[in-house]
Amino acid sequence: MNPHLKQLIDLSIVDKEIDAFEPQIEEANASYEAAIAKKESIDKDIENLSNEIKEEELKKSKNELHLSELSQKLEDNSKKSKEVKTEREMKSLQLEEEIAKEQVTFANEEIERLEKIIDNKNEQIEAAKTALAEIEANLESVKADVDEKLKVINEERQKVFVEKEKLLSTVNQKGLAFYQKIRRWAKNTTVVKVEEQACMGCNMLISDKVYADVIKGEDITNCPHCGRILYVETAEQ
Ligand SMILES: [Zn+2]
Repeated sequence: MNPHLKQLIDLSIVDKEIDAFEPQIEEANASYEAAIAKKESIDKDIENLSNEIKEEELKKSKNELHLSELSQKLEDNSKKSKEVKTEREMKSLQLEEEIAKEQVTFANEEIERLEKIIDNKNEQIEAAKTALAEIEANLESVKADVDEKLKVINEERQKVFVEKEKLLSTVNQKGLAFYQKIRRWAKNTTVVKVEEQACMGCNMLISDKVYADVIKGEDITNCPHCGRILYVETAEQ
């Protein structure tokens, strides 16, 4: 086999190995990123709940203000009732008092309802804080675990990089430029096998003439359909 072709086949294998580290790195990082995302989501929940509580507190204090106005009104009414002269005035005062008392009941009920909502939201915040503390306690060990995995991956990757450097120092420059040009679009299928006279890159059949050239392996042969570099597996590999 043409030694330049052999080098390009080896280079394509090494490049494939290098690319295979990417999903491993992503997978290792995923668990830490998931923990961070969960933490951020709980932080947001707590913030939202706190804002909602502020709104309910505001409604509650409006009701409390209304209550104090109503009690003032009832007090004034009872003073006035001592000075009324006519039946009509008396009835009017009684009606006002009735309405004010109804409003007091309503305001008290409203305050009670709002307090329940506030209590409920505070309980939710407490639960969220507990969950948050758990995540934060685990975060460091998750990070250490990820770092350890990445360290192992990087050591392995470093070995493959060294292998690639070695290959690059021996590979024919023209062949390398040619390989890199195809690799830009073909990625890990830049150099592909021919099986049953078909290019394993584009799956198209190649002519008897091209197939014969690939089998001879004297030159670097491209797929006439897609342009990938072709080879057939031989005993020497
Ligand atoms: Zn092809």
